Amino acid sequence: MSSSAPGPGAPGAVCARCGATADGVPATWLCSVENGTRQYFCERCARDHIRAIESRLDSSWW
Ligand SMILES: [Zn+2]
Repeated sequence: MSSSAPGPGAPGAVCARCGATADGVPATWLCSVENGTRQYFCERCARDHIRAIESRLDSSWW
């Protein structure tokens, strides 16, 4: 439970799907916390990820 903001030298966001990197976290990126690990998805992958989340809520994802 760290409430500190990312300081200088923070690696920025890395897309968990395609590995795209960004300086900081763009507003268009999706931030998802799973099992205590924060994951980011770039704009393109976020759309795909959202579909996956919706399908997971609707039926069995695994
Ligand atoms: Zn991506």
